[in-house]
Amino acid sequence: MLRLLKRFVHDESPTDSKAAVDRFGRVVASEWRKREARVEYITRKDAGNHLRITWPAKPVRRSVSSARHGQIFVLGHMDTVYEMGTIKKMPFRVSRGRAFGPGVFDMKGGLVIALFAIDALARANRLPRRQVVFLWTSDEETGSKSSRQIIESEARRSAAVLVLEPAGGPDGQLKTRRKATGTAEIVISGRAAHAGLDPGAGVNALHELALQAALLMRLNDARRGTTVNPTIAEAGTRSNVIPAEARLTVDLRAETLADVRRIEHKLKALRPILAGARIAVQGGFSRPPLERRASAVLFSQAKRLADQFGFSLGECLAGGGSDGNFTAALGVPTLDGLGAVGDGAHSADEHVIVSSLPQRAALLAALLATL
Ligand SMILES: [Zn+2]
Repeated sequence: MLRLLKRFVHDESPTDSKAAVDRFGRVVASEWRKREARVEYITRKDAGNHLRITWPAKPVRRSVSSARHGQIFVLGHMDTVYEMGTIKKMPFRVSRGRAFGPGVFDMKGGLVIALFAIDALARANRLPRRQVVFLWTSDEETGSKSSRQIIESEARRSAAVLVLEPAGGPDGQLKTRRKATGTAEIVISGRAAHAGLDPGAGVNALHELALQAALLMRLNDARRGTTVNPTIAEAGTRSNVIPAEARLTVDLRAETLADVRRIEHKLKALRPILAGARIAVQGGFSRPPLERRASAVLFSQAKRLADQFGFSLGECLAGGGSDGNFTAALGVPTLDGLGAVGDGAHSADEHVIVSSLPQRAALLAALLATL
């Protein structure tokens, strides 16, 4: 597993480099072809190509009642947040039971786990009861713009969705809930004026921005897990000019669809506070929440299987979104965080715990064999 993980990590694949993601996609595809899977490229001009893998390649016979929503859908992504050349500064290395490198945890470890899970099933001569479709996308880290539709149409054909995003915490918790996420932009217009000669003629867009930021902070509700955080503010041109324009970027997160709607309603209802100022609100939530009712049944099955393997499996809430948010919102049972155990995603310290890799492959294999 480490040998393959090293190869995958060395093949850098930042979301914004189509050439790199496509090259990595070909490396991953060749591993699946060795295992006699059916590999299809879903080509994209403005993003890396996605990989759709069917295993076993021949249809699995199943009961009539489950035929309509027959497949199991395993979801992952090939892109990373690290720019080309990062590997020179943080090469793949193994130290004290941990493997380090860009994307090792989020989520090339997950891609390796999937390959070894099906190796295990093939060797045990235990084909899954349903056909398994693996979709490895190219643009998860930038919001899945070119893959969301494919993800949703695969999910609609599926009995269950298993997401190989990193696990939560050092004990490998599954992510049974994920917050809805989004970004709003508040665009503010005022009127420029000389700050010394005629300040009264101006409408200070930066002042309006500050007042709006203070109002937005009041939408935070720690008890409900709702966060509304102004994160980027832009305003002003010169020190002696009343700013005419300002722009505020706001990070949005919420645990339930009801809270998403409530926040969106409040954003729409924002009105200028200073006389003469204008505001326009753009954007909003882009990923719906993954609520526990979508994951509960699959989680108890995973927990039972883990018990049989002799390890305990916990669950957690993730503040960040994943493609699992899309599938859960369609009402398709979705279990997330089945990938590698480790820490430091998107940082120089990104690593996986080596001993967890076979354990997670076993868990995934068992899920595929029993779902
Ligand atoms: Zn990820």
